[in-house]
Amino acid sequence: MTTYFNYPDPALQNELRQIANTIVAPGKGILAADESVGTMGKRLSDIGCENTEENRRKYRQLLFTTDKSIGNYISGVILFHETLYQKADDGTPFAELLKQRGIIPGIKVDTGVVPLFGSENECTTQGLDDLGKRCAQYKKDGCHFAKWRCVLKIQKNTPSYQAILENANVLARYASICQSNGIVPIVEPEILPDGDHDLERCQKVTETVLAAVYKALNDHHVFLEGTLLKPNMVTPGQSSPNKSAPAEIGAATFTALSRTVPPAVPGIVFLSGGQSEEEASVNLNAINNFNPANKPWALSFSYGRALQASVLKAWQGKDENIANGQAELLKRAKANSEASLGKYVAGTVEGKAGDQGLFVKNHAY
Ligand code: 13P
Repeated sequence: MTTYFNYPDPALQNELRQIANTIVAPGKGILAADESVGTMGKRLSDIGCENTEENRRKYRQLLFTTDKSIGNYISGVILFHETLYQKADDGTPFAELLKQRGIIPGIKVDTGVVPLFGSENECTTQGLDDLGKRCAQYKKDGCHFAKWRCVLKIQKNTPSYQAILENANVLARYASICQSNGIVPIVEPEILPDGDHDLERCQKVTETVLAAVYKALNDHHVFLEGTLLKPNMVTPGQSSPNKSAPAEIGAATFTALSRTVPPAVPGIVFLSGGQSEEEASVNLNAINNFNPANKPWALSFSYGRALQASVLKAWQGKDENIANGQAELLKRAKANSEASLGKYVAGTVEGKAGDQGLFVKNHAY
């Protein structure tokens, strides 16, 4: 086995490192607004809106025209392809609106999950074929980071060795293609919350999956300082009879990460995974408070549902509610910013969506 390879040249290393560090600057995190057309359709139908390109544009316009102070809490927004090329009513491109707020545009580059033949309902993620070309174009069009989501499932016999290995490898290949184009890859191996497993099983599976992911990233010579990890928090399964306290979730999550994620990685930005808005804030706060003196990475957020549930509820597709929707986004972004610093006080921010669970079975993005 040869171990010969070249690191990226120093200029590229610096560029990648700087983007990643900016995204996880203290008190900042990511808004995941990269819902596919289908997923956005479900969100819109919940508020009685038709899933048209215009309604999707209007909703994203609401998000991206929020008061500039949003940039105090949000450093990056993940966009869906369609959204990157949309404009506000006055013709300003959405990417420009984000830049005006000091927010870095990012882009979802995977093309979705497909079944792994012969497995117990497991999957891998597609999109590698023309990824280099797409990354080069996205970089020109103002995106400096990307997301690729892999999905692993906890069942009696899964995740299997096949799924763990395949998903780790596809994430590593994606990450290397992104970096070669000056794009920071967010590496997302999501272990779904579906199931009745307990906290300990989720912790062990998370450790096993992350260990495989970092082995594959190393095999592909990925420059870790220019990456971010987007994992699930360690929680009991959605249908587990045992609920865990935030402090237990904080301990299990931090322990799993400390066993598997190298300190070279600048930041870990959690997905919300169907937790309520409040749970996602309280648990992030608890993770940050587990061992604050010995924390090699920033621990922040890259939430989709847990930053948008109240916004959608307040908006209801009506122009007269735009300001209310934006106020909800600011409130929740601030709460999560505080949580990323371990300073969020539970129950101090009440959103329109209250403590409503946002779990979706076998969730697709
Ligand atoms: P949730 O925060 O809604 O789980 O999603 C974030 C995301 O980007 C999943 O890929």
